[in-house]
Amino acid sequence: MDAWQPVLDALQRSLPEQAFHTWFEPLVPLEMREDVLLLRVPNRFYFEWIEGHYAPLLDEVAGELLGGAGRLQYALAGSNGHAPDLDEAPDQPAPDPIPARPAAPAARPRGDHGLSDRFTFANFIVGPQNEFAHAASVSVAKNPGTTSYNPLLVYGGVGLGKTHLLQAIGNGLLEKQPDARVRYISSERFTQEFVEAIKANKGEEFSARYRRFDLLLMDDVQFLVGRERTLMEFFHIFNALYQAGKQIVLSSDRPPRELQGLDDRLVSRFAAGLVADIKSPDYDTRIAILQAQSEQEKVPLPQDVIEFLASRFTKNVRELQGAVIRLIAHASLTRGELTLEMAREALRDLITVKEQRVTVGTVQRVVAEHYSVAPDLLLAKVRTQPIAKARMVAMALALKLCRLSLKQVGAQFGGRDHTTVLHARKRIDEWERSDPDFNQELAELVRRIESAED
Ligand code: ADP
Ligand code: MG
Repeated sequence: MDAWQPVLDALQRSLPEQAFHTWFEPLVPLEMREDVLLLRVPNRFYFEWIEGHYAPLLDEVAGELLGGAGRLQYALAGSNGHAPDLDEAPDQPAPDPIPARPAAPAARPRGDHGLSDRFTFANFIVGPQNEFAHAASVSVAKNPGTTSYNPLLVYGGVGLGKTHLLQAIGNGLLEKQPDARVRYISSERFTQEFVEAIKANKGEEFSARYRRFDLLLMDDVQFLVGRERTLMEFFHIFNALYQAGKQIVLSSDRPPRELQGLDDRLVSRFAAGLVADIKSPDYDTRIAILQAQSEQEKVPLPQDVIEFLASRFTKNVRELQGAVIRLIAHASLTRGELTLEMAREALRDLITVKEQRVTVGTVQRVVAEHYSVAPDLLLAKVRTQPIAKARMVAMALALKLCRLSLKQVGAQFGGRDHTTVLHARKRIDEWERSDPDFNQELAELVRRIESAED
């Protein structure tokens, strides 16, 4: 269906990758009648989820790409006697659409500020790894241009909330001052706009437009590296805004000094205000993020599932939230209850890589550190405490987490026999059963091992 592909492309550009794959790729276009595009959804849950989460975006995209009154409508797979997986024969009538919600108000107010209301301070979870960047962002949103945080540069790895914070600053300011001139733009898009403007001989217009903003939020400036003309243009805009007391916020995937290939003048400007980094969220923050997401999506996640996710998806928030979405979709398709077992099953391909990543070396290192013994001693023939205990714990955990046989584990503990490993496991099992404190200690160790870097 010709009409669907452009809509799909637009959605892909606007949505997080996992959300797009989960919710939109499975939709099948059925027919286009006047301005209404009918789509087949796998089940009612999908329909409700899509409508509940993405209605404004869908209205906007459909309006833009299907014509003024363009709308999407949905039909359940299997309704009207159609088998869910069969392709529609061309002469069969399309199944009955699900009654649509009342049409959205025609013109939602929308500036060209590039902001999405998905990202606010209210739904940003603060933890030790982002609290500084968060606090700086909040104060910039309150008093743009007047704090010493100008520019504010937020840096950190992928999926850690840089875009979220930049967008939240914009949304925060607009809430207080609806007529503030705010512009959020990725450096990539900025480059495209600039190149197009130059081609159309509208370079001056472009410059003038950017010099009028009160708040410029420039995402992913590392993208500008090596783009001489765009950089030069940005440098002039930056200076003009800065001198006029306007606020500039930048994000980057690395600290300014590592932005090699950027003009030194620019780097020193970038770093002249406040530089704040974001690191990977710790375990407690990951739990809080999952709880918030569960509330937001109105899908209750059992505590053990939350803990499982928090211990397996440790790198960044995007993969953590992606896993939840995958899980929810899986539950809806299989109509199963959301349990720990289902989580393991549904996310298996995402986590096996990680499970294999737990090496005996990591186990030994984390356990040795916990018991304050030198890792080498775990392999040696020393049998004094606390070394003997640490060694048993390490062997039992290696057995549990590294997917190795008794023999293989023994071999990595100074060439011990498999019966030694078996003995260690039995002892640990006993302690676990009889001593709740030990039990907790072990759980904490597992958590640390699973989130440790190799
Ligand atoms: P980045 O721009 O650093 O790559 P994003 O801002 O796009 O990362 O964040 C990825 C996803 O994780 C987004 O959906 C964002 O809303 C979410 N996210 C990141 N950090 C947090 C946080 N501290 N609290 C809640 N959601 C977060
Ligand atoms: Mg980003």
